[in-house]
Amino acid sequence: MKREITLRCTTCGSEDLEFTQVQSHVKCNCCGREYLGGYDEVVELNQEHITQHIESFKTEIEKELKQKLISSLNSITRKHKCFKIK
Ligand SMILES: [Zn+2]
Repeated sequence: MKREITLRCTTCGSEDLEFTQVQSHVKCNCCGREYLGGYDEVVELNQEHITQHIESFKTEIEKELKQKLISSLNSITRKHKCFKIK
């Protein structure tokens, strides 16, 4: 599964940000806001947004793990018929 966090412009909420090659300067293509602190500044301003994403990743990963665990337990119980999970 692909997990990506898209940085947003904190002024207009647009994800259409233009990063220069050296990432020392970022410009929003939507409202024209310029982040002179570059990539680091945008990440800093997106901290809350990023934290939310990480939280949802965690939930997704937990769900995946649970499903894997359940399916592997099911295959064990199928192989060993005397062993049952209640
Ligand atoms: Zn903007």
